[in-house]
Amino acid sequence: MPFATPDAASADRAGSMLVARLRGAALAAAAWLAIAGPSVAAAAEGALLVRGGYVMTMDPALGDLDGGDVLIRDGRIVAVGRDLDASGAQVLDAAGRFVLPGFVDTHSHLYVTTMRGQFRNAQGEFFPVSSRLAAAMTPEDVGVAMRLGALELLDGGITATADFFDNVPGPAHGEAGLAALEASGIRATLYYGGPDKTTRHPIDVDHLARLARGRDPGDRVRLGLAWRLPRDLSDEENWAMRRREYEAARALGLPVQVHVSGQPGPMFDALIERGLLFQGMTVVHATDAGAARLRALDAAGASLSLTPLSEHRVGYGLARLDAFAAATRQGLGIDGNALAGRGDMFATLRLAALTWSGGARDETAPDPRALLELATRRGADAIGLGDETGRLAPGRRADLQVIDPDALSLSGFGGGDPAALIVYSAGPANVSDVVVDGRVLKRDGRLTGVDLPALLAEARRSAVALRERAAAGAPDASSTSGTAP
Ligand SMILES: [Zn+2]
Repeated sequence: MPFATPDAASADRAGSMLVARLRGAALAAAAWLAIAGPSVAAAAEGALLVRGGYVMTMDPALGDLDGGDVLIRDGRIVAVGRDLDASGAQVLDAAGRFVLPGFVDTHSHLYVTTMRGQFRNAQGEFFPVSSRLAAAMTPEDVGVAMRLGALELLDGGITATADFFDNVPGPAHGEAGLAALEASGIRATLYYGGPDKTTRHPIDVDHLARLARGRDPGDRVRLGLAWRLPRDLSDEENWAMRRREYEAARALGLPVQVHVSGQPGPMFDALIERGLLFQGMTVVHATDAGAARLRALDAAGASLSLTPLSEHRVGYGLARLDAFAAATRQGLGIDGNALAGRGDMFATLRLAALTWSGGARDETAPDPRALLELATRRGADAIGLGDETGRLAPGRRADLQVIDPDALSLSGFGGGDPAALIVYSAGPANVSDVVVDGRVLKRDGRLTGVDLPALLAEARRSAVALRERAAAGAPDASSTSGTAP
C-alpha cells in the first residue's frame, strides 16, 4: 500500500521530507543488512517477524521504511529492514499498516483508574475525592485498578509507563501495585511513594529497599521513588524527612519523580537552590517553568514530564509545549486514566498540537513528527529507558504498536504525512497489535491472555465497594454518592 509515493509526497513540504527520510532509511537499512546478515538468519528460531508494514522507527539513523520488517528474538529487536530472512519465525502481518514504537507514558497514577466518573468538577474536585477514595483502598482494590489501568494503556499502544504510586499505606499495597504491573505485561517503573498526598508521613524506604534488592536493573518492571516536597517550603523538619527519602533512593541508584503541582514555581526553585536535580530525576507538572528553571534542569541532566490532558482538566493552565522547548529531556504523560478521562496518548498528542497552534495563532507551529518523537523516543529518554525502548532499532527491547488505517476514522488517507494522520486522526481503537518485550499483548484488535469481562466485573465491584467504604468512613463524602455505572 503506497502510503507515501514520491509523486504524491512531492506535492508538499512534509511529503518531500518524507521522501528524503524514506531514501535515508532505505540506505541505513541496507547498511544494517550488510553488517547483520548472518545473525538475522540465526535469529529465526523462536522469533517474531512483524512483516511488511510502514515502519516509523523513530530512530534518527533509520527513519521510515515502507514495506519494512521488524525481526524480534528473545524479546529484543535484532533487525529492521526489507525482506528479512526469518524462516520459521512467527509472523505478524503488518502489510498496509503503520508500525511504530509503543508510546511511553512518562507519568501516571494507575490506582485512580477505578475512580472514573467520580471527579465531577464543582460537585467533586479531583484532589479531595481521589484522596478520600484512595484512603479506602485495600491492596486488592489497588491491584485491580492498576492492572486494569495498565491494560487500558496497552490497548491504546502505550507500552511503557512511569507510575507515580502515592497510595502506599503499607507494604501489602506496595506489593499489590508491583504485582499488578508485572501481571499486565507492560514495561513500567513503579515509583514508590507515601501513604497519601499530604507529605505528613514518611515513605517506607526500608520496604522500597527490600523490593529493590530483589530485582535486576534490566527487569521489565523497575522501581523508583515517588517524591513530594514539603507543602510549606520553609518547614525544615519536613525537609529532613524528605531528604532521608531522597538520599535512600540515591543510595539505591533509583530514579526519582517529583511532583511540583500546586506551587510549581517555588517548588522548582527549591529543587534548584537545594541542589536536588540530578540525571535520574523527572520533574512533573512544572506548568510555569520559565527559561531559567529549564536551563537549570538541562544543566543537571534532569527531565520534564508534561501531562496536557490532566493539566487542562484540573485547571493548571494551557499546556503550551512551545514554552518548554528549552528542556532537552522531556516526555508526555497520562497522569491517571480516570483523571485524564482515558489512558489515551493519541488524545494527549492531539490536545498538545491544538493548544499549540491555537495558542500561537499559527497553524504551522506544531510538527506532528516532533510530537510523535516526544511520545516515543524522547519520552523513553526522559525516564531513563532510552537504551531499552522508544525506537525500533536493533538492540532495543521489542516494544511496538501496529496501527491499522482500515477504519472510518483513518479513511481517506492516500499518501502524505503518516505522522500528521496519526497525531490528528488516530485513537486507541486503531491500534490492532501491541508487542512488549517480544510478547504479543494485543492481536487483531484484542488483548491476549486476559479474561476482560471477568476483570471488568471485578473492577466494577471494587469501584462500588470503594465508594461505599469511603462514604461510610467519611460523613462528608457526599460528593462520591450517585448512581453506580
Ligand atoms: Zn501526577
